[in-house]
Amino acid sequence: MKLKKISCLIPFLAFLSVPPAMAAFSLPGLTDDPAPTDTTGGNSLADLITGNPGIPATPPQNKPDPVAPNDPVAKKPAPTDNWWLGPPQEDNNNTGILPIIPLSDDEAATLLHMREEEKLARDVYLTLFDTWDAAVFGNISNSEQKHMDTMLSKVEMYELVDPVTDDAVGAFDTEEFADLYVQLTEQGAQSLEAALMVGGLIEELDIMDLQAAIEESDHPDIVQAYENLMRGSRNHLRQFAAQIESLGLIYEAQLMTQEEVDEIINSPMERGGRGH
Ligand code: MN
Ligand code: MN
Repeated sequence: MKLKKISCLIPFLAFLSVPPAMAAFSLPGLTDDPAPTDTTGGNSLADLITGNPGIPATPPQNKPDPVAPNDPVAKKPAPTDNWWLGPPQEDNNNTGILPIIPLSDDEAATLLHMREEEKLARDVYLTLFDTWDAAVFGNISNSEQKHMDTMLSKVEMYELVDPVTDDAVGAFDTEEFADLYVQLTEQGAQSLEAALMVGGLIEELDIMDLQAAIEESDHPDIVQAYENLMRGSRNHLRQFAAQIESLGLIYEAQLMTQEEVDEIINSPMERGGRGH
């Protein structure tokens, strides 16, 4: 039925500068479209299709506009906008990777701080392992290396400058960490118990800093990385506390509240995440 109508209209469409069949599809009256409005900036449908900016069309007076408002071609931007190239690409380098939302200054500073804090843990444990030959320090230092690697991957992803310029044990550019390394290794040299307490102190510090870092960040990938590190820290705290208790002593909280520490060390080791 519709085909018949269209064919009947062909002579009527002869005035149009576009192929009649094409024009017929957008001719008002054949569909339930509302009354047409000129969305083409005066260009004909043919100009839109060919991309020819051309001369503004002057449709005959009192004749229906051939372009319906919901015509997919008519909805395209004017030809001068190069609509045939598609919408502007956000991925200007054609890498196929969406742009990364940069970290805020605070988030960036925290990430760099955590990168160094993981190195502090690794370096102190490596040194205490040398001193006491206790497996707990060797095992946990391996885990801290993975935490350092995780932080480095985030530092690189967000195109920050790695604060670790020298991977050697005890080498820190930041004075705060250089001082802490000296202080904690000296403290841990006093006795095995003191060394295990240093381990507990570092883990409490790490957990508190990671908690604050998680609250500060609105980047899900960063939060996820911190969560993984913090789970590792809780496990490390459990291990140091268990070692102290195996010496017949009680682990007393050093930075966190005793309640917070007890909640962690009286709950089982946690699994999950990569390398934690
Ligand atoms: Mn760690
Ligand atoms: Mn740890």
